[in-house]
Amino acid sequence: MASEPFCVFECNSIGDKILLFTQEKLKKCREILTIRVALKLKYNDVNLPVTVTKTHGYHSKCYNESEIEYASDEDEHEQSDCEC
Ligand SMILES: [Zn+2]
Repeated sequence: MASEPFCVFECNSIGDKILLFTQEKLKKCREILTIRVALKLKYNDVNLPVTVTKTHGYHSKCYNESEIEYASDEDEHEQSDCEC
């Protein structure tokens, strides 16, 4: 029984390396997801595993995207348009 790891972000990337969750990464991801659900952002229906498994994984690209998008909500005001 060889279950291939899959990306929980349900992206269409095939061939990119899938990284398995670590306990820490999963926790972080869940925190982000909680916020995303509250804000009804993209990826708010990501099916995160309850615990670390050998099949639930993610692309670093996908993870970063979800994290960046969420973070950008906070950073928005810090972008400097000042040209002085
Ligand atoms: Zn992915």
